[in-house]
Amino acid sequence: MLPSWFVPLVAALATAALGVFVAVRGPRGELRAAFLFFAATLVFWHCFYLVLYLIPDYQTAFEGARILRVGSFYMVAAVLHLAVSARARPRRLWRWIVIGNYALATSFVVANVFDVWVKELRRTDAGYVTVGTRWYSILSLYALLNFLVAISLSVRDYWITRDPRVRQQVGFWLAGMLVALPLGLTNFLPVYGVEFPPLGNLGAALWTGIVAYAIVRHRLMDIDVFVTKGLAYAAVTLVLVTPAIAVSVILQWWAFRAVDYEFTAALAVLFLSIAVCFPLVVFSAEERLQRSLFRARTQTRRDLAAFSRSMVKILDRQRLMAEICNRLHDLLDVERVAIYLLDSSGTRLELRKSQGTHAETTEFGSQHPFVRWLGRRSEPSLREDAEGLDTVQAVFVEQGWEVCLPMHSGRQMLGFLALGARHGRQAFAGGDLEQLAAISDEAGVAFENARLYEEVRRSRAIIDRTSRLSSLGTLAAGIAHEIRNPLVSIHTFFQMAPTRLGDEEFMTSFLGLAGEEVQRISSLVDELLIFGKSTTTNPTEVQPNEVVDRGLALLAPQARQKNVTLDRSLSESLPPVLADGDQLLQVLVNLLLNAIQATLSGGRVTVETRLITDETGEFCQIEIVDTGVGIPASVREAIFDPFFTTKDRGTGLGLSVAHRIVAEFGGFLSVESAEGQGSRFSVNLPACRNLEFPAGA
Ligand code: ADP
Repeated sequence: MLPSWFVPLVAALATAALGVFVAVRGPRGELRAAFLFFAATLVFWHCFYLVLYLIPDYQTAFEGARILRVGSFYMVAAVLHLAVSARARPRRLWRWIVIGNYALATSFVVANVFDVWVKELRRTDAGYVTVGTRWYSILSLYALLNFLVAISLSVRDYWITRDPRVRQQVGFWLAGMLVALPLGLTNFLPVYGVEFPPLGNLGAALWTGIVAYAIVRHRLMDIDVFVTKGLAYAAVTLVLVTPAIAVSVILQWWAFRAVDYEFTAALAVLFLSIAVCFPLVVFSAEERLQRSLFRARTQTRRDLAAFSRSMVKILDRQRLMAEICNRLHDLLDVERVAIYLLDSSGTRLELRKSQGTHAETTEFGSQHPFVRWLGRRSEPSLREDAEGLDTVQAVFVEQGWEVCLPMHSGRQMLGFLALGARHGRQAFAGGDLEQLAAISDEAGVAFENARLYEEVRRSRAIIDRTSRLSSLGTLAAGIAHEIRNPLVSIHTFFQMAPTRLGDEEFMTSFLGLAGEEVQRISSLVDELLIFGKSTTTNPTEVQPNEVVDRGLALLAPQARQKNVTLDRSLSESLPPVLADGDQLLQVLVNLLLNAIQATLSGGRVTVETRLITDETGEFCQIEIVDTGVGIPASVREAIFDPFFTTKDRGTGLGLSVAHRIVAEFGGFLSVESAEGQGSRFSVNLPACRNLEFPAGA
């Protein structure tokens, strides 16, 4: 048989190693400190048994055990300390309890010096065991109480904590304790006269390992996986190892007419080690062999897997198709790749992109037998899969395809990818087909994403246009009014002109005035036309002050009609911003229109520009400040929501569109408002410092 000191020795070494492991890898803090102390006391505890079992001399064993017993007293207190320090926010009361507990343990240590707990040692087959005095039960009770409190605390934490990591950690400890405690109790049995091997040392080392794992690892295994894995290993090991041991016993009996139990125990340990290590070793050996023998193939599969994961990020359909064709063509080294997609009517699958030799058939009806066959399949389909289906096989043969991957969105087939034969007559093996299945799934999702993204862009464009047209209507009405007055004056002048032809002063001032008015009207109409045309985003370096002036010119008629003064206070040395000038104009028009509409007759709207700096960088700030009615606090949150309006004929789109445009150029829009006093809207766009400055206002 294995000597009895073997278990404590292994446990002491394992615990010391775990302590070093947590000291090096564990996150700093009270939990780590508590664990290290706990591990140290455990090493003492294991050594206590080691001394009892290993040292034959009574006096030396007695003295050694007395010293090492110190570890047991503190170990009990350390278990509670560990449970308290694992809590997300330990309460002050618990800290005092932990300190008090250590003080109590210290008093036990002092009593130990005077041999209050143990009076003598008793010799057994395993070695010495301690014989407790009548006070010894106090120690057992103390240990039991501490364990019970620690467990209750952990169970309570497990149920109430909101911190998922703490919950997971505590779950692990409890699972470990379930294994360790019953084993640990066996160590008390010899003191009460029951002969039993010290399995507690083994259990304690096991539990320490689990706690160390829970402290050090950030990504813990799920507790259910841990438990099922543990049970599965234990069950399979028993099922495999028990018959093997039985066979070894029978063989020994058959060969020697005797059974050697030590030899059998050694064999059992050997079998157990093989059973535990076998799956781990096979798994890593398989991976290594695969990597070294079939390096190119492994790399191809890795690249395919990486591509299939990255595909969903491509939102542009054309780019997506080009990438799929390119990657599959190059990575799989196939003769041809083709992508067929369902058309908008849903009646045909059209060839949208192809690469490689041969021109493929450009479309299939959605009721074509090949398409219907493919639509029913959810996995990559090989030419051989269509055995016996002549029309379907004919398509494979005519097109020179080896495998087709249907792409689905829900139940509908969006299209399919077709791959020709691989160069070098390589077949599509199981591993390739698994990767291709993943690719066809991801491609289905990616095409659906790209379609939805196109729809979102289209509806955004519609919202932009609606908002723009709504402002345009208001601006045009104001400008029409603005045009009428000078036209009336010009008309009057024309009527008077025939009689005043000789009046040179009259004619000169009339011509000068009329020319200026016509010029002003013409540039206003030009600006209106530019504003009205739908734009595509084209970011360039834009001078904010120039856009502000264009906006002020467009809004001047509105302001005049409402008797609102329009003011400007622009910074002279503002760097440009990277934006689309027309879209920025739309932002300013929306904000200025709102400001003028909110301001009562005689009020003022001011546009200010300046350069501001915060921790994220430099921003050009354009502020539209009005002395209007202000925004009630109750609606301040809602004003940026699309379709929120408090106006009779408002669209509720102005601010939401402005917000989106500013965000698209990396900036932000903010608002301050005091009811009854006015509002201040700030457009903040990142300053662009690539040009030579200063640029004039
Ligand atoms: P709309 O102008 O069509 O109502 P907006 O999105 O531009 O749509 O504005 C939403 C709402 O925000 C307005 O209806 C108004 O109540 C409020 N608002 C916007 N700007 C101001 C402002 N300068 N002063 C007071 N209220 C404002």
